[in-house]
Amino acid sequence: MSLKEAAERVAGEFEFDGEGVRKAVKEFLKEMDDGLQKDGTYMSQIPTYVTAVPNGTEKGLYMAVDLGGTNFRVCSINLHGDTTFSLTQSKTKIPKELMTAPTAQELFAFLAKQIEGFLKEHHNEHYEGHIRRHKHKTPNANPATDETEIFNLGFTFSFPVNQIGINRGLLMRWTKGFDIADAVGKDVCALLQTEIDRLHLPVRVAALVNDTVGTLMARSYTSPGKTGTLLGAIFGTGTNGAYVEKLSNVTKLTSNKEADGTYDNSTGEMIVNTEWGSFDNGLEVLPNTPYDVDLDKESVNPGIQMFEKRVSGMFLGEILRRAIVGLLKDKSVSLFGDSDSSVNDLHTTTNIAKDSALFKQWGLDTSFLSLASGDNSAGLKIIRQSLSKELSISSSSLEDAEAVKLIAAAVGRRAARLAAVAIGATVVQSGRLNSMEGKEGGELDERDVVDVGVDGSLVEFYPDFEAMMRGALREVPEIGEAGEKRIRIGIAKDGSGVGAALIALVASKELKVVEEESD
Ligand code: ADP
Ligand code: MG
Repeated sequence: MSLKEAAERVAGEFEFDGEGVRKAVKEFLKEMDDGLQKDGTYMSQIPTYVTAVPNGTEKGLYMAVDLGGTNFRVCSINLHGDTTFSLTQSKTKIPKELMTAPTAQELFAFLAKQIEGFLKEHHNEHYEGHIRRHKHKTPNANPATDETEIFNLGFTFSFPVNQIGINRGLLMRWTKGFDIADAVGKDVCALLQTEIDRLHLPVRVAALVNDTVGTLMARSYTSPGKTGTLLGAIFGTGTNGAYVEKLSNVTKLTSNKEADGTYDNSTGEMIVNTEWGSFDNGLEVLPNTPYDVDLDKESVNPGIQMFEKRVSGMFLGEILRRAIVGLLKDKSVSLFGDSDSSVNDLHTTTNIAKDSALFKQWGLDTSFLSLASGDNSAGLKIIRQSLSKELSISSSSLEDAEAVKLIAAAVGRRAARLAAVAIGATVVQSGRLNSMEGKEGGELDERDVVDVGVDGSLVEFYPDFEAMMRGALREVPEIGEAGEKRIRIGIAKDGSGVGAALIALVASKELKVVEEESD
């Protein structure tokens, strides 16, 4: 078999046709529904207690902090009320010893200390004024004036939590190298608030924020027009989405004993964090090549995050690596073998270093897929250079590079079409495309747009990722060509900054509503 034919055969294994897309959308809708009703389903469909999305007119000064794996970010965000904002931020590396501190208090005291430093540096008048008033506090000081001086803060906390209220969430377990036993099971917002109060800072932890929800909020604020965004979706290291659901559909909410009943239900909506990385863990509809099977088997969490393992940046490079190795082992074809290298440099022989990353798990980064499928240079020079630099494969031929490009493009295309399943199913679930029924052929106006915010290196940098998603969206009968045109997709930057600030804003309003109700 010629190398070209063999590469086409492997690329063909990644085909995910219209029928596949339609079946997967149907299953996705079913699993969304399951998750809204009960716990323990593939898609967790976590209620976030956020019941409104911004429209760009919101105003005010808010704070946001983000405890990721490595850094702690503190920022203040000034929302100008015209879809724009300004952001001031600082970033500190979390000291290693605090990640495994004997008590949670040590870590959270450090975080509060960073907030204090940030306030002193960037909002000193605010800070000093508050401290002064605190010292001279008289028993009948008017709490209402105090209230306006307080920063509402959104807390992005990227560890698994059982969220039981807009600013209440119990730590389920640590990940990413953190290990502080006494924090598990505790409310991380309360842990932070306690340390903030110890320093008398004018800050209230108003909301616990998931990064996907932040993406949705950030997009909804910055998107053109006043229509609220439907979905925030991340295609980066991992993949996940959060969308606006009808409150009456979130039936499991009312049956959660621990859940805090105090949220504003006047909008009739709630943002739901899908955790769609685990869509179809049972592999009813997901494509499953031998490379997918082996990748999963040798992963740290076999059998889970099955959708994510076919869609996101952490895995696509590894799928491609396995497909290339598979072709290399096929003795009937000659990949990196110089057999058909009339175009190869004369007198050179392709050589793969013994310690090439090609033979190591996770050896190939997903950015290589972007590079390979986007290489239109003469003689595919860019791929060949990159094979040499990143995989220590010297003097590869044009035919080799063509084969690699073909397979890389197939892996990327399948990921984009799978991503479209998640987006398409969410759009169908929302019913927002039905609003134009009977208006066929009419002019599109702003109200007919279904807005989707996306974030992550894959969707941002992979060539034509959006175009390929759109191709698949058109193949879904409930969407079709007319529906696809109404879906507007835009990058949402800074979800953990401006998005968290917006959730703090919504939450502070909800707190007021709840307080008024209980008066
Ligand atoms: P995070 O998920 O941590 O927020 P990113 O959105 O930047 O960060 O996603 C990082 C992931 O994207 C990594 O898995 C990386 O391999 C992948 N990636 C980085 N650059 C590119 C690129 N140019 N094209 C496709 N994937 C990329
Ligand atoms: Mg990200």
